[in-house]
Amino acid sequence: MPGARAAGGARGAIVQDAAARLLEWYDRHARVLPWRVGPAARAAGMWPDPYRVWLSEVMLQQTTVAAVGGYFERFTVRWPTLANLAAADDAEVMAEWAGLGYYARARNLLACARVVMAEYGGRFPGTAEALAQLPGVGPYTAAAVAAIAFDRPETVVDGNVERVVARLFAVETPLPAAKPVLRARAAELTPVRRAGDFAQGMMDLGATVCTPRRPTCGLCPLAGLCAARRAGLAETLPRRVPKAAKPLRFGQGLLGGMLGWPGSDWGESPAPAPPLAADWRRLAGEVRHTFTHFRLRLAVHVAEAGPGARPARGVFLPAPEFRPGDLPTLMRKVFDLAHKEF
Ligand code: SF4
Repeated sequence: MPGARAAGGARGAIVQDAAARLLEWYDRHARVLPWRVGPAARAAGMWPDPYRVWLSEVMLQQTTVAAVGGYFERFTVRWPTLANLAAADDAEVMAEWAGLGYYARARNLLACARVVMAEYGGRFPGTAEALAQLPGVGPYTAAAVAAIAFDRPETVVDGNVERVVARLFAVETPLPAAKPVLRARAAELTPVRRAGDFAQGMMDLGATVCTPRRPTCGLCPLAGLCAARRAGLAETLPRRVPKAAKPLRFGQGLLGGMLGWPGSDWGESPAPAPPLAADWRRLAGEVRHTFTHFRLRLAVHVAEAGPGARPARGVFLPAPEFRPGDLPTLMRKVFDLAHKEF
C-alpha cells in the first residue's frame, strides 16, 4: 500500500492485538459522559438509551464534548424522551439549540424524532442502514448509533479515530485522500464483540492520549504496536493537504429558522440592501464571525422602526418577548454591538 509503513507481519500484529488492548484500556480509563453507559455497567447488561446516544452524536457533529455537555443536560431535562422531543414546539427547540451552530441539525433533529415516532413506533431502528435513512443521520452518525446503542460491529471513524489509525499504521498519505485507507484499516480493527465499546475507546484514546499535538505515547495501550511511534512520526501524522484560505463574505444575514436580525444575503462583496425603508445609521465597528467554510464580516445598521413597520423578510418580535439569550452566537454578537449604543 503506498504511503504506509506498517506492512506484512507488523500490520497483522496490529490487526490481531489492537482491539483487545484498547478494550482493556477502555475498561479502566473510559471517560464518564452523560450519554454513555460505562464499560462496567455495559458488562453488567445495561444498554445505552438510543435517544441519548443519537442526540449526543448529532450535537457532537462539528462541536466538542466540552461545548456539548451543558446543551445535552438542558435538552434531556426538558425533553427526557424521544416522544417528548417529537412533541416539542419547534421554536423552543431552536432556541435551546442557539449557540451550538449548524442550525440545520436542530431542524433535522425534530424531523428525525417525528419520523421515528410515526414510522418506528418511537424506537430507533437498530441497523446502520435503516438509521442512515432518517433525517439528518449521515453514515457516521448511523454507524455510531448502531455500534454504541445496539452493539453492531460498525466501523465508526471520526477525526479522533482517523488520527489514531493514521499513526497506528503510519499512513503517510495526506488527508483527505487518506480517508478510504484509514476507514479500511479501522474496519480491520473493529471487533465483532463489544464494537460499541471499541468505538468509544478509540474516540477516548484520540481525545485524551493520542492527541493532535504531543501524543502521550508512554500512556498508550497501543504503543507496542504503533508504527508511527516506532518510526518517530507520531506528531507529524495524519498529514493534511494545506487548507485554502477561507473566503471572506460581507453582509447582514439570517440563520434559517433562528431568531435573528433582518438583513441582506451574505455575499462576497459589501452590498447590504436595507430590509425596510427607514433612517438607517451604520454603527462604528463590525461583527466578525468564522464559519467552517468562510469568514463573515457584518456591518450593523440601526434605525427606529415606526408603528406597523414590517421587514421584507421575517417578523419583528414584541419587546417583552425578546430574550438576548435566545439568539444564536452570531446574532448575539450583533446585539452586543448594537446594545452598546442604546
Ligand atoms: Fe498514538 Fe502514540 Fe499510541 Fe501511537 S503510541 S497510537 S502515536 S498515542
